[in-house]
Amino acid sequence: MLKVNALKNNIYFPFVKLATSNLACAISPRSLGNMSYVYAGTENSLDNRRDFLKNLGVDYRSLVCAKQVHGSSIKYVKEGQQGKGALSDDNSIPDTDALATDARNLPLAIFTADCLPIFLYDSLTPAVALVHAGWKGTRDNITVKTLQLMQERFGSKISGLYIGFGPAIRSCCYEVGEDFKNYFSTGLIRKGNHSYLDLIQLNKRQVLEAGACEDNIFDSRICTSCRSADFFSFRKEGKNCGRMMSIIMLK
Ligand SMILES: [Zn+2]
Repeated sequence: MLKVNALKNNIYFPFVKLATSNLACAISPRSLGNMSYVYAGTENSLDNRRDFLKNLGVDYRSLVCAKQVHGSSIKYVKEGQQGKGALSDDNSIPDTDALATDARNLPLAIFTADCLPIFLYDSLTPAVALVHAGWKGTRDNITVKTLQLMQERFGSKISGLYIGFGPAIRSCCYEVGEDFKNYFSTGLIRKGNHSYLDLIQLNKRQVLEAGACEDNIFDSRICTSCRSADFFSFRKEGKNCGRMMSIIMLK
């Protein structure tokens, strides 16, 4: 039985028992500062990235980032694409909300503040992927599409994939409008006159239906809004909110 998750020095590791010599995998806490080149005060973002990644044995200059658009497009990243979005947002991979690779020393990054970061790890092939799942990506099945890409391109067995749900806004805090019942037949929780969305339950249900194994799913159980002292929360802080970085890399 694998330990579900751990906060070590306030850094969240989705697969702590798997984060051995073969895998770097973590999300930055608020205490390490804003990691985005686009949102909030960005003057320290490069230094913040370097400090966070140094602790994980990852070269910040190799980072591959996506220009996230709340879509459901996934990009396969290959050897030679290191550094896209590492030093500037300008050359980030455009129009993408999930990244996947089977190359070593190619760190993938996504940025969130309430949206759900999902870490995917195929220890056999090996291969990794990272998904940015907000409500739109979840509605459009981005996580399952990423599993399918891993299956088709890498030969990954979906039942053997490790799947980690990072810190995100949870159904305790994620109030949504009445119109969401047009998009989701499950995952909406009614409390009084208010509706709340459970992004984690929705994504979990989708990956289980696609063939994932429940024993391989790890959930941080952290709500970014409840724990906004430790994590950035867009809902709580508004447009000047910084972003956390999730990264995954095969060593
Ligand atoms: Zn909450």
